[in-house]
Amino acid sequence: MSDIKRVYLFGGGKTEGNTTMGNLLGGKGANLAEMDLIGVPVPPGFTITTEVSIEYTKVGPEKIKQLLKKEVEGVIAELEKMLGTKFGSSTDPLLLSVRSGARVSMPGMMDTVLNLGLNDAAVAGIAKKSGNERFAWDSYRRFVQMYGDVVLDMKPHSKEDIDPFEEIIEAIKHERKVDDDLDLTVADLKDMVTRFKKAVKDNTGHDFPNDPWDQLWGAVFAVFGSWNNERAIYYRKMNNIPGEWGTAVNVQAMVYGNMGQNSATGVAFTRDAATGENIFNGEYLINAQGEDVVAGVRTPQEITLEGSRRWAKLAGVSEADRAAKFPSLEEVMPVAYKELNEIQHKLEDHYKDMQDLEFTIQDGKLWLLQTRSGKRTGGAMVRMAVEMAEEGFIDEKTALLRVEPNRLDELLHPVFDKDAMASAKVLAKGLPASPGAATGKICFFSDEAVKRNAAGEKVILVRIETSPEDLSGMDSAEGILTARGGMTSHAAVVARGMGKCCVSGVGALRVNYRERTLTINGVVHSENDYISLNGSTGEIYDGQIKTIDPELSGNFGKLMTIADKYTNMYVRTNADTPHDALVARNFGAKGIGLTRTEHMFFEGARINAVREMILSENQAGREHALAKILPFQREDFEGIFRAMDGFGVTVRLLDPPLHEFVPHEEANQAIMAKEMGLSLEEVKAKVEELSEINPMLGHRGCRLGNTYPEITAMQARAILEAAVNVKKEGVKVYPEIMVPLIGTVEEYVLQENVIRETAEKVFAEKGARVDYLVGTMIEIPRACLIADQVAKHAEFFSFGTNDLTQMAFGYSRDDAGKFLPIYLDKGILKHDPFQKLDQEGVGELIKMGVDRGRAGRSDLKVGICGEHGGEPSSIEFCHKVGMDYVSCSPFRVPIARLTAAQAAVRNPRKK
Ligand code: PEP
Ligand code: MG
Repeated sequence: MSDIKRVYLFGGGKTEGNTTMGNLLGGKGANLAEMDLIGVPVPPGFTITTEVSIEYTKVGPEKIKQLLKKEVEGVIAELEKMLGTKFGSSTDPLLLSVRSGARVSMPGMMDTVLNLGLNDAAVAGIAKKSGNERFAWDSYRRFVQMYGDVVLDMKPHSKEDIDPFEEIIEAIKHERKVDDDLDLTVADLKDMVTRFKKAVKDNTGHDFPNDPWDQLWGAVFAVFGSWNNERAIYYRKMNNIPGEWGTAVNVQAMVYGNMGQNSATGVAFTRDAATGENIFNGEYLINAQGEDVVAGVRTPQEITLEGSRRWAKLAGVSEADRAAKFPSLEEVMPVAYKELNEIQHKLEDHYKDMQDLEFTIQDGKLWLLQTRSGKRTGGAMVRMAVEMAEEGFIDEKTALLRVEPNRLDELLHPVFDKDAMASAKVLAKGLPASPGAATGKICFFSDEAVKRNAAGEKVILVRIETSPEDLSGMDSAEGILTARGGMTSHAAVVARGMGKCCVSGVGALRVNYRERTLTINGVVHSENDYISLNGSTGEIYDGQIKTIDPELSGNFGKLMTIADKYTNMYVRTNADTPHDALVARNFGAKGIGLTRTEHMFFEGARINAVREMILSENQAGREHALAKILPFQREDFEGIFRAMDGFGVTVRLLDPPLHEFVPHEEANQAIMAKEMGLSLEEVKAKVEELSEINPMLGHRGCRLGNTYPEITAMQARAILEAAVNVKKEGVKVYPEIMVPLIGTVEEYVLQENVIRETAEKVFAEKGARVDYLVGTMIEIPRACLIADQVAKHAEFFSFGTNDLTQMAFGYSRDDAGKFLPIYLDKGILKHDPFQKLDQEGVGELIKMGVDRGRAGRSDLKVGICGEHGGEPSSIEFCHKVGMDYVSCSPFRVPIARLTAAQAAVRNPRKK
């Protein structure tokens, strides 16, 4: 084991690592090494590798110390040589900072320890060297406090706990009758250190470590230990960061931004992280340490003159005042600024990406403490990628990969105003079912949502769960909130289709329709109360929060054009209305992958005809009712075909179990009875007869069409009559009729026969034909197994991964919300399989379905229309198995276009 290299030096021209070693050295360590390699001034130091952190969890501190000792002593000696200082020296001590540094940045995992190496002897050395005794003792007291907090775990764990260090500071200030730390004398600071050390002894039972080596090992072990603290584990879980990655430790020579008026510290960005504008920007503080910039005690000033002037304009500060009180670094320290500006260009040029920098100026000398690719808003991400490609700075493929697809959401939906969010109060959290921000008054009933909206009120529809009956209410609401239901619940699917914000499955919600109240964690909200939803995070807020509509900028369009150049798959949409189809088309959808015909059954007068059809005793009765539905459906399809002029439109035949459409309330049953000339009892009996124990596995999908072929015939007629009609108008129509939920070849063939016979009748009656396809959904595991036989008949496959996931796992789509959160919590599942395609299980079925399907028919068209068709990792999978297209809800279309292109760039298909 001893031949493993565990420690890497950087700085002073002796750097051993580089930027490609991020996995081993962590992001920060690898970039510190790289900066030294390209001639950017960094204080020298060393990185202990991430692998050691994993060893640490296995063998513990004592063994790790043995393994590291020789190497660490070697690099410390090297630093002493480079800097001419000595660890623990009373004349010229080497002081260090210790920081964690995982592969990806994990904010708040472990705080930094600064000034490590200070003790009763070294403090005198620093006083002498800096010629500033106060500075030396101020650094010392800060070090003892930081070490106590971070390494000795003396930070208060709850709000009620007393912070022993803060208590001492307050006591001393009180005794000396001063308000500001700056008014404390050297004697006060010495007293403070003594009292701090006593507090350490009282709290931990041990003396504060005076030996710098003990301090160093303590800090290194604290970093390794922090990898498995609660905060870090929580953060990793949220961001899917594997525990096996571990964290590196970066130990670096201290530099001081608080050594007087010729010193400063700051953070800077090579481009604007909020807007993406190509402008150097950032903030700094004179005579301060890094933590002061972040802590917000003093207001930092702008780095560039231009930034400073822009800030002054926004803040209403006159130019004279600005120059006098808030000058830029460019004005105050022109030489250091010039060097910083050159370095920022150099770093962006080197990394070919926007950099986020930390720097310190010690007595006029500039040092870089960190560089990394900067975090940015979705809008900035797109703008930077496109502009960098236009500048020839990166190529188009790199530009595509620079944008995280899900971040496009920020450009497509309303968002909360940032300032308004500062005072927002979170009431509860549910599933982020459909993105965007919404604010409005609580409304419990769909019909009331329609009325209140018509009267100009903004409402949030709050339901225990939604059903197709709520469609108009959902459409009228700003957002939808449901107590039950997962990511493929009715509310979630329909809201995504509408591009409407939705939060679902909020366990903490108690909805009382009778009392018209919503109770969240014991607090009762009523109909005139405002609530706000963030559908991108699942958060529910109290009260009204201002929202802003984002604009689709030119760069967004340019990015989409680049995406289309590289993609192998095109993107269709799941849309049930001409309006949704048009929205999707504007986002670049090339056709419809799924029209769920039944979603239109509740509109206006149709529901009565649908109910009549369902309640009919015999075929004649059903045909009578179907004749009433036919014109409605035909009209719907005409609208959709027009909206999708030139593109294929896949219409699925009736899928859900019939009981979803019958009235369950007695009042509605009475209306139905009257309309059909039946007794109330007869209607009730029929409703009872239709009820199923397990409707999702019951009389639905093609089982309906096979038991009542007249329904299939009516729908095929409506689709094809509509197609012939609009073709006559000059519209290019490509209808594709899709049979749902097949598990045997015969189920499919019988339906296909009905469709083709109907088609011939329609064409003969109309004296005109259209080309059309007949195909099927693949959403039952058995269909994947016999896909070769099915493809002998079906002209296309569309994978219904909602049902396929349900049936592969045996998890009910409607009830999984009860146990999935627990499964995710316990790590039984890594992801909700209804959100992210389960590639190893359900994915195998899909792969088999595609391969066997193409074996049965080589030119079989294959796509996906389950909710996964809009989810990036699932889309990448679809690309890999060779699908022709993915279909998703309208507002996911741009995300899917970008993801499909990224998948093609990352995994080129064999020609
Ligand atoms: C599916 O099962 O994936 C699908 C698209 O159909 P639905 O969600 O309507 O059952
Ligand atoms: Mg389905």
